[in-house]
Formats: sequence, C-alpha cells, structure tokens
Amino acid sequence: MATENRLAYTPEKKLSLRCHYHGVAERNEIPWACPKCGSTLRAVPESLDGVNLSAGSADRPFNLFRFDELLPVRGDVMVGKHTGWTPLMRAEKLGARLGLGRLYLKLDCYNWPTYSYKDRVVASALQRALETGADTVACVSTGNVGNSVAALAAAAGIKAVIFYPAGIEPAKNLMSLAHGACVIQLDGTFDDVNKVCRRLALETDVPFVNLTLRPYYAEGAKTVAYEVVEQLGWVQPEHVVVPTAGAALLTRVAYGFEEMAKVGSATGPVPRIHAAQARGCAPIANAFAARELVHRPVVPDTLAKSIAIGNPSDGAAALEVIAETGGSALGVPDEEILEGIRLLAVTEGIFTEPAGGAAIAMTRHLARTGVARPDDIVVAVISGSGLKTQQADDAETASIIRGPAEFESARSALLDNV
Ligand SMILES: *Cc1c(COP(=O)(O)O)cnc(C)c1O
Ligand SMILES: [Zn+2]
Repeated sequence: MATENRLAYTPEKKLSLRCHYHGVAERNEIPWACPKCGSTLRAVPESLDGVNLSAGSADRPFNLFRFDELLPVRGDVMVGKHTGWTPLMRAEKLGARLGLGRLYLKLDCYNWPTYSYKDRVVASALQRALETGADTVACVSTGNVGNSVAALAAAAGIKAVIFYPAGIEPAKNLMSLAHGACVIQLDGTFDDVNKVCRRLALETDVPFVNLTLRPYYAEGAKTVAYEVVEQLGWVQPEHVVVPTAGAALLTRVAYGFEEMAKVGSATGPVPRIHAAQARGCAPIANAFAARELVHRPVVPDTLAKSIAIGNPSDGAAALEVIAETGGSALGVPDEEILEGIRLLAVTEGIFTEPAGGAAIAMTRHLARTGVARPDDIVVAVISGSGLKTQQADDAETASIIRGPAEFESARSALLDNV
C-alpha cells in the first residue's frame, strides 16, 4: 500500500525526545534515557492535535506503520512492511477453562519475519536507522531481538552485529546466523552483556538498536495497543496481560491505549495492565509485591530466557504504569509457565514460548483471584513462538512412542491410543 500518499494528511510532523514523566531534559548523559528517572525517552510527535485515525482508511497499510502519525516515522517506510497487524483471536475454549467469557489472544508469535513481538520494535528502530543513513546496526539481546535485527537488517540491506549472553537457545542462534549476522556471544547474564554494550553504544559510532535507538525502538511496541483497540471494534479491553522483561512492551502498550483514548478513537477507560514475569527473574513483580516504586536487580534463574532481564531499563516506568492503571505484576514459577504453554497448545492449537506461557499462567491467576471477572474483555499478549525454544520442555519428548517400521507394532501403537 502506498504509505507515501498518506503524508498528505501527516504533514510536517515534529518529533520530540522526552520522558513520559519528566518532559524534555536539558542535558542527558545517557542520550536515550531520562536523567531524572532513567526511563527510556519517548520519540513522539510534539502534539496529537488534529490526529484523525479514521482519515484515509483505504490507504492505510496493514502493518505496524498503519497509524504512522503516532510513530517516530518521517517519510517513506523502508522496513517492516509486513510486520505487525497480527491476529487478535477470541479464545473460547481456553476462556471456558479459565472462567473468562471474553478472552482474546494477541498472537505476536505469528509476527513477521521472526515470530515474536520484537519484529515491531526492531522495525521501528531500523526505520530510524535508515532515515539517518546508517549502514550497520548492533543490538544486545536475550534472543528474539537478535533474530529480528538479523532478518530485518538483511532485508533492508544493512549489516547486523548481535551480542548475546551465553546460553541462548540454539534455534535463536541459528536464526541470527542464517541471515548473515555477526553473532558475538559473551559469558555472563544478559545484564552483564548489556552493561558492556551500553558502554560500546556510548563510546563508538555504531548505533545499537535497543540502546542508542531505544526511544525509536520502544515506541514500536505501542502498535500492539492500536491493533487490539481496532480489532475489538474501537473498544478498550478491561485487562491486558503482558510478558515483561525490560518493559518496553508493557510501558508502550499502556501509552498506546492512552493515545487511543486521547485522540478519541476508543471507547471505555484504558485497560488495567498486568506484567507476567518468571518467578526466577521477577524484579518488577517483587517490587510490586513489596509496594516499592523502584525495582531491585536480580540474577535470572529461569527457563524463560527471552524475559530473563534482571535489571529492566524501564522498571520504574513499568511500576508507574501498573499503579496508574490499577494493574498488577506476578512472578510465575517455571512449572506453571510450562503448564501455560501446554494449556494454550491443547485448547487453541497455538504453540508459544515460555514468555507466552507466563502470560497464560498469569491470566489464569487473574481469573482465579477474581481480579478479571467472567465478562471482562481480557487480552493476553502471546509474544513469541514455541518453535524457537524447544528444549524448554524436554519432558514432552519422553511421551513419544518408538518402535520399528513394521505394520503390527504400528497398528497397536495406533489402536492403543485412540
Ligand atoms: C523481549 C520479549 C518480551 C519482553 O519484552 P520487554 O519489552 O523486554 O519487556 C516478551 N516476550 C518475548 C517473546 C520477548 O522476546
Ligand atoms: Zn523521567
């Protein structure tokens, strides 16, 4: 679809870089973070006045740049034209199991091109990188960011360098290498590697997608909220459950719902936002339980690698969003994450990774504790695919029935199991 045409009604967009809570700072030591609270700055239009999302509907592309007047995009979209606009599915069978009559799943496990929500944020950051003429990008990743950077940079014709901590799932390594990215694996946790990369981002000229470009990266996650509202028929849901690590997704989803309300495109109050974390890496859930406004860093110990960030960049902002929307946060034990993965697969035919399993487990918790009522609209974000994290559940393969390629034994294997 011709995004170019739509510039006709998004003229002279002025972007500003500012903290959601403290506005524009005079001097930032870390160019991408607020000097007062450390939150990632927001690259947002200076004003939402006159924004009319129903204008030009016929020309609007079905991708994450659908409402580009709300995004840090200037000029033609150069990357991610197939990213975003993932299905919002009504999950009747899973809902019936959990006692929720209006449960929906936002299926970013089917995002393009690498099957996770990270395709949105990386496309948003790469759009900025390309607008500024970059020919190389780097990133620091727990797995999925690296995959998105590798694939989208390849498609855009620029070089990618990916820093991973040791212990990344083999499929995630493979997917990055397949696209010709340079993969650098450092011993230590994500937080150790992130610390090194922060310094690299400050002291070299290579733009790091989720450090240097983090304000542009993070805003891409708002599109989950825009799509949910539109897919529900321009209605705000009551509850949204978000798997949470660095908290770009959680905070931007909340800001996205707020923006939809501000421009008058959604009926109902903004939803309550709930953070699903792994108990073995739950700095935000721990702070929420202790009623603290600032998280304390932890050392991750969980099979949910994609959300194993012990010191989240946007921890303080996440706690603010949770408090403001009347949401909550929970650290889900690994066994319940695996149960969540299985429950989703056997009820709805969707295979998610541990982050999505955590979202299902938390949704069950909200239903059980009565926080989500049976007729509330609840949206769980299924943020990544299970195909990249197969060893997360080795126990499953123990149930495979094995035998010779021979008729009689195959017949009993069949008939014993129907
Ligand atoms: C990165 C990631 C998250 C969490 O995103 P943050 O913005 O870091 O909180 C959730 N799910 C999956 C599959 C991810 O890869
Ligand atoms: Zn701030």
